[in-house]
Amino acid sequence: MTVYNFSAGPGVMPQQVLDQIQAEMKSFNNSGMSILEISHRSQLYTEMEQIAEQNLRDLMHVSDDYAVLFLQGGGTLQFTNIALNLTDQFHHVAYMNSGHWAQKAMEAAQKIDGLKVDWIGDPKGGLPHIQALNSDHLDYLHVTTNNTIEGTTYHQIPETIQPLVADMSSNIMAEPYDVNQFDLIYAGAQKNIGPAGMAVVIVKKSRLASHPELSQIMDYWLEEQKHSALNTPPVFCIYASGLVFQWLKQFGGVEAIYQQNQEQANLLYDYIDNSKLFNNTIPAAERSLTNIVFGTGDQQLDQQFIATAADHGLISLAGHRLVGGMRASLYNAMPTAGVHALIEQLQQFELNHG
Ligand code: PMP
Repeated sequence: MTVYNFSAGPGVMPQQVLDQIQAEMKSFNNSGMSILEISHRSQLYTEMEQIAEQNLRDLMHVSDDYAVLFLQGGGTLQFTNIALNLTDQFHHVAYMNSGHWAQKAMEAAQKIDGLKVDWIGDPKGGLPHIQALNSDHLDYLHVTTNNTIEGTTYHQIPETIQPLVADMSSNIMAEPYDVNQFDLIYAGAQKNIGPAGMAVVIVKKSRLASHPELSQIMDYWLEEQKHSALNTPPVFCIYASGLVFQWLKQFGGVEAIYQQNQEQANLLYDYIDNSKLFNNTIPAAERSLTNIVFGTGDQQLDQQFIATAADHGLISLAGHRLVGGMRASLYNAMPTAGVHALIEQLQQFELNHG
C-alpha cells in the first residue's frame, strides 16, 4: 500500500531526498564517514553548509544584505530571540493576532521586561487585516504568513508596512514572498525544509547588533559572526535540508512548486466546495495552500473518516486538537497522486455516508 503522509509537521519529505540520504548515510561525499560523524569544524562540513545556504539564497532570492542562519530551538525559540534581538530602538512591537502560533509568538514577547507589545485583531473574527500601524515607533510588526492550525494565509503582504518580521514556518518556499519586504523571516524546518531540530532565520544585517547581555546562543549577531556554528550546529538537519533545497531547485524553484501547490490545493478545495458532506468556511482569498482544514461538522463522522483514510494509507489527517475536524497538509514534497488518493477516499466516504 502506498502511504501518503498529510502530517502538519514533521511533514512529508521528497522521496528522492530520502533515497539520497540512505545511499550516502555511511559515507558522506565518499569520505568514509557518515554525515552523523563528521566534525562541524571540518572542511567537509563547511562546504556542505555553504552549499545549503547558497541554495536557500538562490531559491528565495536572498541578497547579501541578509544573513542566513541555521539555528537550534525550532520556531519557538525564535519567538523569544526575535523579541530580544530586534527591540533595541523603541522597545515596542506589534503582532498580527492571526491564530494560535501568532499568539504563542506574542506571548513570548510579552514575557520580556520593558517591552511594549500591541496586537491587532482576533483570530476568532477571521484573518485580521494587515493595516498601517498606529505608531511610527515600532521595532517591528510580526506576521505569521500561514496559520498552520486555522488553515489561513496572508498570500500578499502590503508593501507599505515596515519593519516586518514574518514567521513562515508552514509556508516558507511554498509560495513566493519578496524577502526584501521583511527585516527578518524565520521558520522551523520540519514542514517545508527538512527534519525537525532547526530553524532558518533570514535577517537583514543592518538589524543585527551585539547583545552581550544575552546568552551567546541567543545572540543573532554572534551567530552570524560564527556562521551558525557558535556551538555544535544541527549538522544532520542542515545536510538534509540542503538536499531538499537541491531537490527544489531541480524542480524549478519556488515559482514552479507554487504552481503545483496551487493546482493541488485547488483540486482539494474544489472537491470540498462541491461536497454535500465536507466543508471549509474560510474565504477563498485567505485559504492556505499548505494546510487545508475541513470537516463534516459531526465529530464522530470526522473520526470515522480519519480512521478509514488511515486504513487506506492516508495518514495524519486529524485536525489540530484545538479545532478538531480534518487537516490535510500539502507541503512541497506531497505528490499530486496523494491529493488524488485523498479525494477518492473523500468521495467514497461521501457515497457511503452522505
Ligand atoms: N510557527 C508556526 C506557524 C508553526 O506552525 C509552528 C509549529 N507547528 C511553530 C511556529 C513552532 O515551531 P517549532 O515546533 O519548530 O518550535
